[in-house]
Amino acid sequence: MDIEDMVQAALDLIRHGRYVVALTGAGVSTRSGIPDFRSPTSGLWERANPAEVASLYGFRHHPERFYDWIRPLAHLIFDAQPNPAHLALAQMETLGHLSSIITQNIDMLHSRAGSHIVYEVHGHLREVTCIQCFSTYPAEPLIQEFFRTNTLPRCPKCGNVLKPNVILFGEQLPAVPLMAARREAHRCDVMLVAGSSLEVYPAADLPLIARQSGASLILVNLAETPLDSLAQVVIHADVVDVLPRLAAALESD
Ligand code: ZN
Repeated sequence: MDIEDMVQAALDLIRHGRYVVALTGAGVSTRSGIPDFRSPTSGLWERANPAEVASLYGFRHHPERFYDWIRPLAHLIFDAQPNPAHLALAQMETLGHLSSIITQNIDMLHSRAGSHIVYEVHGHLREVTCIQCFSTYPAEPLIQEFFRTNTLPRCPKCGNVLKPNVILFGEQLPAVPLMAARREAHRCDVMLVAGSSLEVYPAADLPLIARQSGASLILVNLAETPLDSLAQVVIHADVVDVLPRLAAALESD
């Protein structure tokens, strides 16, 4: 089958789906200029090892190293715009063809594109939390202040360092979105996986849960994934080309 046949097969599943859930990974944000910081080819591993500086242990002992490391990524994220893949998923939600999005991305671009139900299983850069008193604050003004002054963001209440609500290496995933993601995987009858290599937990697990619960799988990713053989539809193409085609076809139904 060529890509057009695959797109039609995906549309058939989505049109007949009662509860369609999307699972998105770094590939969805590539065209917005955001590298996959978990990938050694992202450029973010050259000056420091994220598994050390971006671990909870590393943060507690050397928050300044963590902030040095995340500085270029945070710049990219605050400057990034949603791309046609994010916008297509938001459009599918508006059309009633997408119930929720589970994302591994921390860049908040799904919500900025207009999607309302988004479970961010690796956290996000929307807020920072005090590592001592657990007060939370909007992240962007405090991190922009750090860009200007090079002074670490500190809690106005107790003076301790503030940590972005991004899940660090070795840190437990946030319970609430993770439980919601598992529930969505059980509940859906179609899971649309976009831009994820399905190698990092929990993304590797959720399509399996969906399959075991009887859902159909649609995979859209440039490269092969370990779950290709389980999927009903596999499209090896760029999500920014494929997702807008799906949304446009659904719009014209
Ligand atoms: Zn505090």
